[in-house]
Amino acid sequence: MFGLYYRALMASELPDTIDCRQLAAGDGRITGTLAGRRLRRVATPYRVAGALEATVTLAPRAAGGYTLSGRLEVPLEAQCQRCLEWMAWPVTATLELLALERAPNEAESEADCVELIDGRLPLAEVLEDELLLSCAFAPTHAEPGCEGAKPTSAAPLPEERRRPFANLDQLLKGRDDE
Ligand SMILES: [Zn+2]
Repeated sequence: MFGLYYRALMASELPDTIDCRQLAAGDGRITGTLAGRRLRRVATPYRVAGALEATVTLAPRAAGGYTLSGRLEVPLEAQCQRCLEWMAWPVTATLELLALERAPNEAESEADCVELIDGRLPLAEVLEDELLLSCAFAPTHAEPGCEGAKPTSAAPLPEERRRPFANLDQLLKGRDDE
């Protein structure tokens, strides 16, 4: 939940990478934005409608490395996979990761770890990864249906294509009714 206070602080563009030791030596927190053009991996059925805003906190960890926590917000637009209309699709996501100087051990899930390179965290990449993970595979308008255009499924479904005559009697019946 970013209030006005945070928004005022978040005018600055975040760097691509941050020096963890340097950040942890201060208050461990970084807040800023990634301009929409920096989110290069956002692709169909999504598009970027504004800057990503994020706050990330880094804390040294007894077992080595750092815990990384944070939150991001991005105004995306999504193309409904039922009716193909574009709609506002704001994304909010939280980060809970380990930033390590080494490969993760058995106690550390690889999916939740980021490897540091020379003590630097690839911040922009981590934020974009988290954004992409938060995007549904097939976005649609909320149930029960779409307010936009009707689905444009003129092409037959694969199942029907394999059985071209399965619906022939229905098709003929439909023709008789015209
Ligand atoms: Zn729709």
